[in-house]
Amino acid sequence: MSGYKMVVLMKQVPDTSSKAGVNPDGTVDRARAKRMMNPFDKYALQKALEVKKAHGGEITVVSMGPPPALEIVVEALEYGADKGILLSDKRLAASDTLSTAYALHMVVKHVGKVDMVFTGLQTTDGDTAQTGPQIAERLDMPQVTYLEKLEVKDGVATMQRVVEGGHQTLEVPLPCLVTVANSAARLEPKRFADVFAVKELIRDKAAYDKKVTILDLDVVGANPDRAGLKGSPTVVGKTWKMGEIGGSCTMFEGGNAKDEVAELVGKLTADHGAILEEVLP
Ligand SMILES: Cc1cc2nc3c(=O)[nH]c(=O)nc-3n(C[C@H](O)[C@H](O)[C@H](O)COP(=O)(O)OP(=O)(O)OC[C@H]3O[C@@H](n4cnc5c(N)ncnc54)[C@H](O)[C@@H]3O)c2cc1C
Repeated sequence: MSGYKMVVLMKQVPDTSSKAGVNPDGTVDRARAKRMMNPFDKYALQKALEVKKAHGGEITVVSMGPPPALEIVVEALEYGADKGILLSDKRLAASDTLSTAYALHMVVKHVGKVDMVFTGLQTTDGDTAQTGPQIAERLDMPQVTYLEKLEVKDGVATMQRVVEGGHQTLEVPLPCLVTVANSAARLEPKRFADVFAVKELIRDKAAYDKKVTILDLDVVGANPDRAGLKGSPTVVGKTWKMGEIGGSCTMFEGGNAKDEVAELVGKLTADHGAILEEVLP
């Protein structure tokens, strides 16, 4: 295959234009909520489509979620992606970002040798922005967050990313993982030819099965003990509506990231050490 082999990670989220129900414990009632493609992930797909347009290659869209998440995988094909994978397994229920990143990195490994992995900046539901960087770490790939512009030549990506007060330009050897900023180019509208091709594909089961697959943890070689609730040390103590309580913010400004992280960990351990000991293996 000429060109670049790319994976775009896309999540299905509750549609924020509809009224999502809330369970008595404060969690979103996902079963009742209308669903949509995470808007941030559209920027990631657009970036991959741009690389494909310039250099050729193949885009595989990967989503992890319950069976309805297949909707966004098929929708991504309508935008011009080539293949789709849904990782769906009951043992993934109650995944936190640690186990989500674990499961998704196993899918990327299952896809094979890839040149670039694209993720959105964050999701509109979980909203942590942790998943992309954690996957890069697990894949041992360089990562660039807040990507706005991208050019690839001879296996090296020149990237412009957003930083506080300006932009930064980096040259990164492939393979790498990027999280795409929502100030990057918007996803171009679906082309009639692509939408028509997907309609044809759905009619042809053999061809559809070659392009769209639903995988479980066993197929991607993931350890079920590291997925779902079992692999999720995060404990949600309480959820509440925004604005119900006040709060304060502490800035750690040690001058360099290493000192700032050490200071943050020190404060968390001092304030919440007992809880951390309980939840961390
Ligand atoms: C204790 C706990 C229990 C939870 N239980 C559940 C549950 O039962 N069901 C549930 O749906 N959620 C659950 N969540 C939420 C779930 O952990 C997060 O949605 C998930 O880890 C991704 O984090 P995020 O939404 O913050 O994504 P972010 O880190 O903000 O996302 C960044 C990017 O990563 C990619 N990405 C993120 N998630 C996916 C995905 N699933 N598939 C493909 N790409 C993705 C996208 O490109 C996205 O733009 C739970 C969270 C916690 C803390």
